[in-house]
Amino acid sequence: MNFSIALDPMQKLLSIGGATGFEPAGDAPHEEGTRPACFTSPARPSRQERNLAALQRSVSQVMTPTGPKPVLKTMMTTACERNCFYCPFRAGRSSMERITLQPDEMAQGFSRIQKAGLVDGLFLSSGIIGGSPRAQDKIIETADILRTKEKYRGYIHLKIMPGAEKEQVRRAMQLADRVSLNLEGATEERLRLLAPKKDFWDELVQRLLWMEEIRRNERVRASSVTQFVVGAVGDTDLELLALSEKLYRQAKISRAYYSAFHPISDTPFSDRMPVVPKREHRLYQASFLLRDYGWGVEDLGFGADQNLRLDVDPKQAWADIHLRDAPIEINRADRLTLLRIPGIGPVSADRILAARGRGALSALFHLGQIGVPSPQKTAPYILLNGQRPEHQMALGFG
Ligand code: SF4
Repeated sequence: MNFSIALDPMQKLLSIGGATGFEPAGDAPHEEGTRPACFTSPARPSRQERNLAALQRSVSQVMTPTGPKPVLKTMMTTACERNCFYCPFRAGRSSMERITLQPDEMAQGFSRIQKAGLVDGLFLSSGIIGGSPRAQDKIIETADILRTKEKYRGYIHLKIMPGAEKEQVRRAMQLADRVSLNLEGATEERLRLLAPKKDFWDELVQRLLWMEEIRRNERVRASSVTQFVVGAVGDTDLELLALSEKLYRQAKISRAYYSAFHPISDTPFSDRMPVVPKREHRLYQASFLLRDYGWGVEDLGFGADQNLRLDVDPKQAWADIHLRDAPIEINRADRLTLLRIPGIGPVSADRILAARGRGALSALFHLGQIGVPSPQKTAPYILLNGQRPEHQMALGFG
């Protein structure tokens, strides 16, 4: 592969490195740390190979609508005039090297590595200098150069700055496959504790609603997502999921990302305790129930602290209370009821409904035959032709 790095903009791009590595860009956020196969680690690297290693830090394997792709995650600038308490780029954090690229530099740098076959997708964020609209303009201009001048048709995910103008949101959605605007806090009060210069309703929620309005009225295809910082300021799972549910219904976001808080040195939160990754995992499980399974937040079981149990999948926790003594008849239940059963997701529910049209499902192995991946998981919670599956007692669930 012929790839040489000489231009100053490219050096800046390399220097930004993995600055945005913690930001999810696609549909499998937990796998985004995966190193793309196009990078190797020789024992004695040449200068070019060292540059490649630097580039590797800003490239993640991202699940896009057309499959997994190596995506460059980077920023227009690592400088910022705001002071969000959790953020490595916050104003005044002296240990952060500030690097800024202009739109033509960013577009040129991306095009070079994209044409070299090292990336096939761009996730572009930015700090804010000179106000949000100015920062947003630079993001948009970069994407515009890539789409119009460079004729790049691949995956682009653009950040929407808090307080961006509606026309900017529209233009970003015309250029991108996905746009994201991070709410960070689950409520106005929580956001004030995380990021005192951000306005929850006017700068953030309003823009997420615009995205859906633009998508609905103007037929742009870009999906929209948001992200929360989890656990830094006493926020509860109930708060996070209640807002997520509203956003799924009203703003039609594709997904909410949950980022377990990790303290960053030289920030006001540097002494706070990190949040266990398991909490993030349970939030994702619950969030998918709200998005894909027809659940409401009131269906989820929260403890006295308004958090989900960490030791059990929220769907199983619900089923253990509601279904062990009142199992669901697989041959009669409607789709939403089937989706209450552990081990049955949207695909399995559709397969069951289709199979019932061809005859009764009377044994656990019938579920396996039609492609339900874990029939045993369903066993404690179902009836097949009025009978509990024989397998149930053998598994020790009874
Ligand atoms: S506005 Fe963004 S980049 Fe700036 S401090 Fe806040 S989170 Fe960090």
